[in-house]
Amino acid sequence: MNGHMTRRELIRLLSAAGFGTLISSAVRAEAPAAAPESAGFVGRLIDPTGAPRTPAAMVGGKVIQPERQLPIMHETDVLVVGGGSAGVTAAIAARRAGVRVALVERYGCFGGLWTGGMVLVVIGTHAKEGGEKKKVVRGIGDELLERLTKFDGAIMNQKPGAHNPTADPEAVKFMMDEMVREAGVNVFFHCWGADAVMDSKTIRGIVFESKAGRQAILAKVVIDTTGDGDIFAAAGAEYEQRTYAIGTVHRLGNMDRTDKAKAAGKKLPPLGGATPLPGVTWVNTRGPKANGLDIEELSRLEMEHRRNIWGQAQQLRRTPGYENVFLMDTAPQLGVRITRVLQGMYKLTYKESREGKKFPDVVAVGGAQGAQHVGWPIPYGVLLPKEVDNLLTAGRCVSADEKLLDDTRLIAACLTTGHAAGAAAAVAVQSNCRPRDVDVPRLQKLLREQGAYLG
Ligand SMILES: Cc1cc2nc3c(=O)[nH]c(=O)nc-3n(C[C@H](O)[C@H](O)[C@H](O)COP(=O)(O)OP(=O)(O)OC[C@H]3O[C@@H](n4cnc5c(N)ncnc54)[C@H](O)[C@@H]3O)c2cc1C
Repeated sequence: MNGHMTRRELIRLLSAAGFGTLISSAVRAEAPAAAPESAGFVGRLIDPTGAPRTPAAMVGGKVIQPERQLPIMHETDVLVVGGGSAGVTAAIAARRAGVRVALVERYGCFGGLWTGGMVLVVIGTHAKEGGEKKKVVRGIGDELLERLTKFDGAIMNQKPGAHNPTADPEAVKFMMDEMVREAGVNVFFHCWGADAVMDSKTIRGIVFESKAGRQAILAKVVIDTTGDGDIFAAAGAEYEQRTYAIGTVHRLGNMDRTDKAKAAGKKLPPLGGATPLPGVTWVNTRGPKANGLDIEELSRLEMEHRRNIWGQAQQLRRTPGYENVFLMDTAPQLGVRITRVLQGMYKLTYKESREGKKFPDVVAVGGAQGAQHVGWPIPYGVLLPKEVDNLLTAGRCVSADEKLLDDTRLIAACLTTGHAAGAAAAVAVQSNCRPRDVDVPRLQKLLREQGAYLG
């Protein structure tokens, strides 16, 4: 579908892509209001949600939080904290292996930076092996990408011979919901993992905050896929913290209704790359290096980036040939690339990756940004903290040297390290051992059975 896309056409496109229930509510929202918003709705009285509160107290000018017992909201085998690319594949892998899994996410959808951050291109899906382009993202991550090809407008470049597909964020959210639900994972949205529950050097679960107050979830194994290492930091694991470029992604609409010739010689703001939606581009922003854990910095950047993006969109609309372009949306989630990085049992280096160094405990293979160099085997040790037990990590905060972080944080690598961590957690539970003691050949066998590529 080319040409101007009206709201009605967008709805028709999504409808064709199979988003039936979403469309029916969208259509309802568009219909002339038969009843005003406030008419006829009566809420009923219910018991207050959550445990009785114990507020902090002012004592001698200090804020003191009194000691109190926390309700245990849930107990499980494997608890995954953070539902981004890594967390979702981890949860599905563990659950498919047959253990009970809970997945805690601070927002109301899955995908993390891929969806909420609107980072749409899955880079690093392929590597060059024996002169040939070879797909290294397989297993659960690739299954997700493949399933998106069934929907019009959900993904592009997910086909033989192509690499680095671009996905629509709503389609990814939808498919992650589907796969998590099918697997039978217990989902807890709107829960912010705030602390670790420790028994000496062993993690026993987490404390989380929600509208219902502060509660705990206990688990045999915890996987930190918060991207920022919130849980391994709370558990006392060794880590490095870095500043990194923080940007905000945005999308532009009507990019197929432009006349480039009219704008000849004019300096244009970034126009972005194609997405599966006709006429819609996504614009990546690098942004300044900043501390992604400093809330004042994050608040400033949110507002500055939005202001700049608004200004750029207005500049574009004033440019001859680009008058129809509009700012479709800014990503609801700020683009924090790197903060805490685990100092794990093994620290993988850039040099080792480019040499394609082999590891006996390989659990995934990373790809090349443009499928131009060899795949890099990822050893199990990058997911394991040195000292804390029953804890794993995956995604953009795995143990790697500074130069390799630009590869370990790519979505394809996050999908595969997540898959590996979930499978490892399941094997640990089933073998009744610590994750650092799992039988690696057994773990590798499970990963291969689940479709993962280990080289
Ligand atoms: C601006 C930008 C552009 C990028 N461009 C590309 C690109 O073009 N291609 C590419 O492949 N990669 C790109 N990346 C990198 C990539 O998007 C991320 O590194 C990757 O998506 C990270 O996945 P993750 O699962 O490790 O972490 P995240 O996606 O950050 O997921 C972490 C999840 O945990 C949740 N969470 C965090 N803390 C808590 C907590 N305490 N309790 C509960 N839940 C929590 C978050 O809400 C989130 O859902 C880009 C990144 C940025 C920021």
